[in-house]
Amino acid sequence: MESKIPMKMYIDGQWVGSSSGREFAAIDPATGEEFERVPKGNEEDVKAAVDAAIAAQRSWRNIPASQRGDYVLRAGLLVREQLEAIARIDVKNVGKPIREARREVGAAATAAIYFSGMARRMYSNVVDSEQPEKFTMVVRRPVGVVGVITPWNDPASLGMWGLAPALMTGNTVVFKPSSNSAVISAELVRVFEKAGLPKGVLNMVTGGGGEVGEALIKNGGINMTVFTGESATGRHIAEVNAPLFRRQVMELGGKNALIVAKDAELEVAARAALYAAFSSAGQKCTAASRIIVEEQVADKFSRLFAEQASKLVVGSGLREDVDVGPVISRSQQENALDYIKAGESEGAVVLAGGGTYEDEERRKGFFVKPTVFGSARNDMKIARDEIFAPVTAIMTVSDIDEAIEVANDTRYGLSSAIYTKDIKNVFKAIDGIDAGMTFVNQGTVGPEVGAPFGGAKDSGFGRELGEEALEHFTEKKTVFIDYSYGDRPWYFGLPRG
Ligand code: NDP
Repeated sequence: MESKIPMKMYIDGQWVGSSSGREFAAIDPATGEEFERVPKGNEEDVKAAVDAAIAAQRSWRNIPASQRGDYVLRAGLLVREQLEAIARIDVKNVGKPIREARREVGAAATAAIYFSGMARRMYSNVVDSEQPEKFTMVVRRPVGVVGVITPWNDPASLGMWGLAPALMTGNTVVFKPSSNSAVISAELVRVFEKAGLPKGVLNMVTGGGGEVGEALIKNGGINMTVFTGESATGRHIAEVNAPLFRRQVMELGGKNALIVAKDAELEVAARAALYAAFSSAGQKCTAASRIIVEEQVADKFSRLFAEQASKLVVGSGLREDVDVGPVISRSQQENALDYIKAGESEGAVVLAGGGTYEDEERRKGFFVKPTVFGSARNDMKIARDEIFAPVTAIMTVSDIDEAIEVANDTRYGLSSAIYTKDIKNVFKAIDGIDAGMTFVNQGTVGPEVGAPFGGAKDSGFGRELGEEALEHFTEKKTVFIDYSYGDRPWYFGLPRG
C-alpha cells in the first residue's frame, strides 16, 4: 500500500509544499520508477521550521515529562497498529525486503515505547551538601531545539531513535530526513501528528543535504544536532558545530569485522554472517563487510558462505520470499560495481555474485548480486572503504590475536563480532577490538533499544538508545539551596565605617 496522502513538509502543525514550489521525485529502487513527488525545501522553509520549533519550546518544555512521554507512547502504539502499511511504504521508498521492513518499523515502535517509559524515570542527583542547612541537587532541562538529520537505510528506526528521546525530554525538533527516504520519514511525522503533538513541536523539512541540511546546521536557532550518515558529512557538520559549542551526536560509517575462530560452529557462523553482510543489501552502518577467518577453517567457511550467498533470493522487496532487495539508487549500484572491479584488479577472488542481473524483473531496478570476495587483504580498497552495498571480503589470519589486529586496522570503529566457543577468545575480542559494539556469537547487526548504540574513531561519537539518550538530550543544571537564611563564615564582613 502506498501513502495516499500527498507528500508534504510539516511546519508549525501544517502540511505544506516548499515555499519555492519546487519538488523532486521519489524513486522506487526496485523498478527505477517515480512513485511520489517530494517538496524540495530551501533556507526559507528551514527558517520557518526552526522559528516554529523555537516558538513551541517554552510551552512544550513546561508540560510534565510524563505527559510528553504519553504523546511519544501514543505515536509508538500507532506505529505498531499501522506496522504493515508503514512497512510497505518503507519497501517502496528504500527497497528493503518486506520481512526486514516489518522488523525495522517494529523497532521504531519499540524505541518510542521505550523512551516514553523513560519519561517517568528521568532521574537526576541530589548531592549531599558540604554546608549545613543547604540542599544541592541537579535538575535536567531540555537542550532546546534539536536538528535531527537521518540517512535512508533504516529510515523508520533511525528517525525514531532521534525523535522519540528528543521530544520526550522536552526539546522541540526540526527533522531533515534523507531525500532518498522522505516518504517513509513523513509517516513518522504523521503518527506524531495523530498522537496530538502540539503545533511547532515537531517539524520536518525535505530536500537535499546541500541546501536544506546546510541551512539547518547553519541556523543559529538550533541548539543540538543529531546526525546519522557518512563520516565525511559528519565531519563537515562537526566543523560547523564546533565553534558554536553546539551539542552533537554523530552516528557515522562503519567497516565492521566479523571474526570466525577455528572452533566456531561454521554453519551457524556462515548464516549469521550472511545476514550481517547482506541484509538491507549491505546498506547498514553495522554491516559485516570484512570477514576474518582463522586459517584452519578458512576454506571450509568460505565455501559454505559463498554457497549460501549464491542461494539468496534477490528481487523486489514486496515479495515475501525475497532475502535481498535493490540498493538505493543507480549511482549506488554503479559505485558497488566499481568496487567489485577494484577488488578483482587488486587480486581478490569473486567467490559468489559479482555483478548485476539482466532478467526482466531486475534489470530496471538497482540490484547488485550478493558478492563474496575470497583471498582478500586488509589493504585492498574493498577492505578499507565503506561500500554500503552487498559486497563483503573474506580474509584469512593465523590466530585470534592477528584477527583482532586486522579488525582494528581501519579508520572506523562501529560494530564487530566474533564466533567462537573459547571464552579466552571472547574476552580477547571484548578487550581488544576498538569499536562501540562487539557481538559474541551473533553477526555485527541487531542492536537493542535498552543498550547504547554508536561508535569510535571515524564512526563518530555519542550514543543513541539506552539511558545515554537522557544525557544527550538534557542539559544538567546544578541548584544550590541555602535554607539557613543565615550568614556564612566566608561572606565579606559587615559594612565598614
Ligand atoms: P549522507 O551522509 O550522505 O546523508 C545523511 C543525511 O545528511 C541525509 O539526510 C543527507 O541529505 C544529509 N546531508 C548531506 N549533506 C549534508 C550537509 N552538508 N549538511 C547537512 N546535512 C547533509 O549518508 P547516507 O544518507 O548516504 O547514509 C549512508 C551513511 O550513513 C553510511 O555511511 C552509513 O554507515 C551511515 N549510517 C550510520 C549509522 C550509525 O548509526 N552509525 C546508521 C545508519 C547509517 P540528502 O541525502 O537528502 O542529501
